[in-house]
Amino acid sequence: MSGKAFFIDTTLCTGCRGCQIACKQWNQLPATKTENWGSYQNPKDLSFYTYKLIRFQEHMGPDNKPVWYFFPDQCRHCVEPPCLEAAEDDAPGGIIIDSQTGAVLYTDKLKKAKAADITEACPFNIPRAQKGTGYMSKCTMCVDRVNNGLLPACVKTCPTGAMSFGDRDKMVDMAKKRLGEVKSKYPSAEVTGLDDLRVFHLLADKPKKYYEYASVDIVPKGMDRKMALRKIGNSLKDLSKEWQIIHKLVS
Ligand code: SF4
Ligand code: SF4
Ligand code: SF4
Repeated sequence: MSGKAFFIDTTLCTGCRGCQIACKQWNQLPATKTENWGSYQNPKDLSFYTYKLIRFQEHMGPDNKPVWYFFPDQCRHCVEPPCLEAAEDDAPGGIIIDSQTGAVLYTDKLKKAKAADITEACPFNIPRAQKGTGYMSKCTMCVDRVNNGLLPACVKTCPTGAMSFGDRDKMVDMAKKRLGEVKSKYPSAEVTGLDDLRVFHLLADKPKKYYEYASVDIVPKGMDRKMALRKIGNSLKDLSKEWQIIHKLVS
């Protein structure tokens, strides 16, 4: 599979949030008003102005000492994006895929879609709408940088090497190799997204211990009733066309 991908090794992430700030800076996104809500995770959630967020969880380690679990969250740039499927009817051209990188990009045409439809279609709970305007936003894979030979701003900034970016095939190999290296230390370790995403997370423990949407089976959860019916309808239309061609040939 061609295009680009991120490999995020959470075993190297220190929760410094440099990537979160770099994303704001490059995309010229305003700061979000924060509050003490009992966690170092700040802001509390993704928003129209926050495309990248380090999610914090604290668990008890084997030696009864607390251990931090950090999860860098962003759009996974699905290879077959459920959000794009959801936008097809109401807002054609509202979500496009960049041909060079595979990045999933939102355009102004997405305004015509119902924001709730797009949000619900995303199995990773990523897209966010701007209050009062109908515009929606999320991570762009920094295509403006990548298509000019630069790394995404978040990857460029990461001081520990937790984030890598490059050709998808190379990132798959890197993720598998690194998984093999950490297995003796973290027997429950796994890599998410290798089959159907462009963001792979190496997690040292079960995904749910990091975040509810850390790893999701995108087929059943991403396909709502409307989408499923449309797929069935398209298949029936194809069958009907084939039947008409065969009928012409034999008559
Ligand atoms: S993660 Fe969500 S917003 Fe991103 S491409 Fe997939 S469905 Fe769309
Ligand atoms: S790729 Fe760019 S837009 Fe996406 S999270 Fe990283 S810095 Fe933000
Ligand atoms: S910059 Fe790197 S180490 Fe810091 S929070 Fe982001 S991914 Fe983790």
